[in-house]
This record gives sequence, C-alpha cells and structure tokens, in this order.
Amino acid sequence: MYNINIMDAKFDILKSNFIKRGYNFSYFNTSAEAIQYILSLIPKNKSIGFGGSVTVKESGLLDALIDSQNYKLLHRDICPEIPQEELYSLMHNADWYIASTNALCMTGDLVNIDGRANRVAAMLNGPKNVIIVCGVNKIVNDIQAGIDRTRNVASPPNCRRLNKKTPCAVTGVCSYCNSPDTICKATLIQHHPTTGSSVYIVLINQNLGY
Ligand code: SF4
Repeated sequence: MYNINIMDAKFDILKSNFIKRGYNFSYFNTSAEAIQYILSLIPKNKSIGFGGSVTVKESGLLDALIDSQNYKLLHRDICPEIPQEELYSLMHNADWYIASTNALCMTGDLVNIDGRANRVAAMLNGPKNVIIVCGVNKIVNDIQAGIDRTRNVASPPNCRRLNKKTPCAVTGVCSYCNSPDTICKATLIQHHPTTGSSVYIVLINQNLGY
C-alpha cells in the first residue's frame, strides 16, 4: 500500500499517467476537502447515480450530497421504493455517476470487478460525467497487481458485506470459484475514459473502502 506524499515522485508519475490517458485528476489530503471539490464540480439539480461503494459512504460524500439537498440522488439506500432494475436504469441515464475503483494503477489504468456489471457498464457507457473517488489504499503498480487486488483484497470483504456464499468470504483469499454468488463475473480494465465521457479521478490521502 502507498503512503503517498504530494511531493513524492511516484505521485507525479501516477498523476501524469492518468492525465496522459485523458482523465481529470485531483488529489486531496482529506475527505472533507475532496467533498467540497465534488460539491463544487456537480451543478445543482443534476441527477446522480451511484455504484455500490463503501468509499462513497465512508468518506462522508453520500451524507454531504444528501445534506446539500441540491441533487436528485439515485442510490439504493435512498430510493428503496424503486424496484432494483428500474433504479439501475435510472442510474444509467443519470447526469453524473459516482463510484470508486477496485484498483488505481500507477500505469494510468483502472481495474474493476463486478457481478451484475451495472457499475462497470455505467462507468463505460452511462452518465457522461463520472467521478471515481478513492483512497490511496487502492493504488497498485500495474494491471496484474490490480487484478490481484480485486480478487484478494477487495472481493473477500465485499462478499462478506453482501452476504455472498463464496469461498473467499470464509477464507479471505480468492480460489477462482465458480459459485453462482461470485462477484467476479466480469473484470474491467479501463485504459481511457470512453469516447464522449468525462471522468474525474478524486484521490484522497486516506484508506477508504476495500
Ligand atoms: S472468484 Fe470467487 S473466490 Fe475469487 S474473489 Fe471472486 S467471489 Fe471470491
């Protein structure tokens, strides 16, 4: 795990690699500063969809968006009355989408794993504005390390959180299972923002999410 310092040469490489790939890239020392930036970035009255993200809650971002009363928020916890498939469709057509990532590679790539794939689908071909908010614990060297992180760091606690019947929920490591409950049905390696979309990476110097 990186304990990144804004003066660190590795931070410069990370930032410049994501900018070269076409991403907007911001870095904040605290969640509070990142939240202020995100609130200033999204125009009032816009709709926002969310990927299932512990980071968005842990950082305080979700509460700040609710408290602002400035947005139409499409989140499972906020809209329990909307049937799941309908909510995913609304999220997919929202103005903005906020998610985290399973791995932020020094090479400028994002790695994400998904079971239903609503999150990775929205990140690729949904709302035209996407915010990826993540802690420094998500930084890895390269794509292979990112895949390893998704399987052995992110998925086990996520399976436990989602009450999935998978081996890693018990053992804490990936056994490349074929369980119907696996949350590793698709792995997305994203090299660039997809055509027509603006992606804002918001890196926070804290450990957040899985
Ligand atoms: S493939 Fe199965 S065991 Fe491996 S991380 Fe995914 S859900 Fe867990």
